[in-house]
Order: sequence, then C-alpha cells, then structure tokens
Amino acid sequence: TIGDNFARTVAAYPDRDALVDRAAGRRWTYRELSEEVDAVALGLLGKGVRKGDRVGIWSPNRAEWTFVQYATAKIGAILVNINPAYRVHELSYVLNQSGIRTLVSASAFKASDYAAMIEQVRPDCPALADVVLLDSPEWTALVDAGRAADPAALAGIRLSPDDPINIQYTSGTTGFPKGATLSHHNILNNGFFVGETCGYTEQDKVCIPVPFYHCFGMVMGNLACTSHGACMVIPAPSFAPAETLAAAAGEKCTSLYGVPTMFIAMLAEADFESYDLSSLRTGIMAGSPCPVEVMKQVIERMGMNEVTICYGMTETSPVSTQTTAQDTLDRRVSTVGRVHPHLEVKVVDPETGLTAPRGTPGEFCTRGYSVMLGYWEQPGKTAEAIDAARWMHTGDLAVMDDEGYLSITGRIKDMVIRGGENVYPREIEEFLYTHPDILDAQVIGVPDERYGEELMAWVRMRDGAEALTAEALKAFCAGKLAHYKVPRYVHVVDEFPMTVTGKIRKVEMRETAREILG
Ligand code: ATP
Ligand code: MG
Repeated sequence: TIGDNFARTVAAYPDRDALVDRAAGRRWTYRELSEEVDAVALGLLGKGVRKGDRVGIWSPNRAEWTFVQYATAKIGAILVNINPAYRVHELSYVLNQSGIRTLVSASAFKASDYAAMIEQVRPDCPALADVVLLDSPEWTALVDAGRAADPAALAGIRLSPDDPINIQYTSGTTGFPKGATLSHHNILNNGFFVGETCGYTEQDKVCIPVPFYHCFGMVMGNLACTSHGACMVIPAPSFAPAETLAAAAGEKCTSLYGVPTMFIAMLAEADFESYDLSSLRTGIMAGSPCPVEVMKQVIERMGMNEVTICYGMTETSPVSTQTTAQDTLDRRVSTVGRVHPHLEVKVVDPETGLTAPRGTPGEFCTRGYSVMLGYWEQPGKTAEAIDAARWMHTGDLAVMDDEGYLSITGRIKDMVIRGGENVYPREIEEFLYTHPDILDAQVIGVPDERYGEELMAWVRMRDGAEALTAEALKAFCAGKLAHYKVPRYVHVVDEFPMTVTGKIRKVEMRETAREILG
C-alpha cells in the first residue's frame, strides 16, 4: 500500500529533504513529513473518518495537501481531489456524486472564497458531515489531537493494495468531469515507474508547479518522489512562471514539470536568462500535445537534457507511455515514447475494433495494472470505456511505429473531416509553431456547408508582432501544407480557453467559433 511504501522511504532516508513549500517558507525532512502525516491521519480518525469514507480536499498546492494525501492513504479513506477552479455548481456535484463525508479545504485563494461557497452548497449536501478549513483553529485542533493520539490506532487498520483509495475527476476538457476510482496498486505503481523512468534517487529535487488535485501533481509528482526518496518542491500555490523558475533555481531542482503552455510561459519570461537552471537534469512535459519546438527549447535553453514526455489519462493512473533519456533526440521531441513496464498498448481501428497496422492511426487502448477500478458509481460510463477484456479505450488517436514508439495525433473528438479528408489539427499546429511571430497555435474544425468542416487557426502572437491575417497565413502555408490542411479562418487571441490543468478547451473554442462565424 501507499502507506507501507512511504514508511520504507522514511526509514531509508529519514534526514533527507522530503518537501519544500516555497509560499509558506517551510521545509520538511522525511522524518518530519512522516510525523505530520501521522498527526493528520490520527486527527482524521479522531474525527470519525473510517476506511472507505470519502475525504475531499479542495485547495491549491500547499504542503497540507500532501499531508492529507498520505494520511488518507494510511487510514484507507478515499481521497477525493477537488479542482480548485470549481464553483458552487461543480462543487455540489462532486460532493454529492462521491458522497464526501469530510471536506478539508483552503479558506480562500485569490478570487475564490472557498469557505463561502461551501456554506452555500452545504444544505444540499446531506452526506457532508464535517468541514475543516486549513488556516483555521479547527485544522490546528485536528493536527494537535492527532499528535496527542495513540499511534497504535494506525497499525490496526487492515488495508489491501486493491482498495479504492482515490477518486480523481477527469479534467473536463471534453465534457463533464467523471470520477475515476483508483487503488493503491494503480497509482503507487504508476508513480514508482514514472520515478524509475526519470531516474530518481534520494538526490533528486522535483519542482512541481502542476496542480496536486490532478494526477500529474499527486502521482507523477508526489508518488514518484516519495517512492524514490526524492524531494517535492512546491514553487507556488498555483502556476506562476517567475515563481517556478525561482524555485527551480533557488532549490537547485534536478527535475521540472509542466504542461506545454507552462513551459511556453516560462521560456517567454522577460528575465528568463537571469535564472540559474544548471541543476536541472530531467523533467516531464505532458497533458496535451507537446510541440516539437517547445521540447527543443526546453532541452537547449533550460538544459533539461533528459526531459521526457508522458502520455496518459486520469483513468490510467495516469501514465501509459514515456520517452526516456536513451531515446534518440528526434523520438524524444516528436513521440510520447514506448509503453511503460507491465502495461500493454494497442492501436485499433475505431470502426472495426481490429488492431491497426503499424504506421496507421487508430484509437489508443491500454491494459494492465494502471487501469482504474471504474468511474465512481457510473457503471454505464465504465462499461463504455473499459471493454470485457479489460482494455481501456482512451478516445485518443495514435500511431505506433515499427519499434513501438507512439505518437498522439489528437483526440478522436477533435479530428476534423474536411471534404472527406481526415485532418489532424496537431499536424497543422506543429507547422504553425514554426512561424516566427506565432507564440502558440491551436486548430479546430468549424461547420462548413460545402466541405462539412473547415479549419480555423487560433493564434497567440509574440509581443510586438502584428496580428496574423488569413491571407498572410495562406501565404505562409503555400507550398508547404496540402491545400486541404490550410486553415481558412484565423482568430488572434491573447489566451486560449483553458482548464486549470492547462489543457486547451477545444469544445469552448468551437462554441466561440460558431458565434464568430454566425
Ligand atoms: P475529460 O476526460 O474530462 O474530457 P481530459 O481527458 O483532458 O478531460 P485528463 O485525464 O486530465 O482529462 O487528460 C487525459 C488526456 O490528455 C488524454 O486523453 C489526452 O487527450 C491528453 N494528453 C495527455 N498527455 C498527452 C500527450 N503527451 N500528448 C497529447 N495528448 C496528451
Ligand atoms: Mg479524458
């Protein structure tokens, strides 16, 4: 179980740094972290939380998030990660859908008054028995009671690796979030293998600006670190490029994480050159398509020579494939690597369900220890995603080459069919990145009477660059892209609509596009 694994690391590296919370200005060794975790675990027990009870956590990144993560795992409570960007509507849905008994929450962050939102939904959430606000006397009382309690209470809890331990709602990029139910076995193994692939040891320090509420932070970040004795560094409560660079430089981190848009923002920081990033060795870019140009810059300008790309989804703990430092540069920037140990992957024709030949795009399916137990209390949705032979159907399109390297060509839902031709927005986005004035580009399909769908490029221009016109884009693409891949429309924006995990919401872009085009 996660608790056993954590205890082994604590015993092996008691005096090494385990956790740094830069905003709080605090740090913990593994021994100290273990004491905090036990105090919270015993405090929760004292509040009546039992194995199988759902404990919600609603907070931006901070040390207490991690305490609660390991404390709930130790007592067998099911941690429910709540997205810090949620508002009352989503909050009450998640509280009721997962049946949260105890909610641990930040009081407020930036424009979000969490305490007020909780009070607003409380009357509609009958299962919610207890709310503990961090930074309130109640939290202090819980921790103090835990410190005074008899630790023998923890030893008496019978846990199995296959118990559900975590409900993570998907990012909601394509629709309403679904609650993936995950076991110790699922996420602990996945965190361990991510750490193995990154080559983590107790010498590593990992800068984690990605949210803990998402598997990128709590599994690929925290569990990868604690299963290898590495140190978790929280640069700021939510992503901020300058704070992240300052944390990586100031803590001499060896590894840095981010979704592509985070790396784009860090590389675009005005005083980027003033940060000493020479300690960085590796890192992970994941979560959405990782542009080749951005990967190259991360290697060259950030010195992350061993940086890897991961592909995965919440439902699969999350990582299925990862590049390694041994792969060729070309593969490290243009593929999502090969399948992780102990997992299977196949690419199937979505129409026939038959395995597609190498080099032919199809739906990415995976099977093995990483596949979730199911969507929480949604057996119908679970059956749609996981077939009778236990294959998880990801909804993503991929191509596998002769040596097993996979490339993600997009989501099935985002594929554009223009005049009968399949167009993968990813390919056009990659091409647009090569335009010197374009900072970031996204391509969507919009309805068209003649061709069924037409392409629209959304672009963010570099500082000082003139807004791109449809004519200029056409000229740029001429002779380099097949005519049916040249976007007909261009929409210049400052930001793309995004989820808090930094994923671009193409659903919302398509809605806006329909309004623009009338
Ligand atoms: P929802 O399922 O609620 O619509 P979501 O799929 O974005 O949201 P997550 O589980 O956070 O929720 O994200 C998994 C998805 O992210 C994958 O299915 C894939 O589309 C995308 N993704 C993850 N890593 C990569 C990558 N390296 N390259 C391309 N796409 C990626
Ligand atoms: Mg999904």
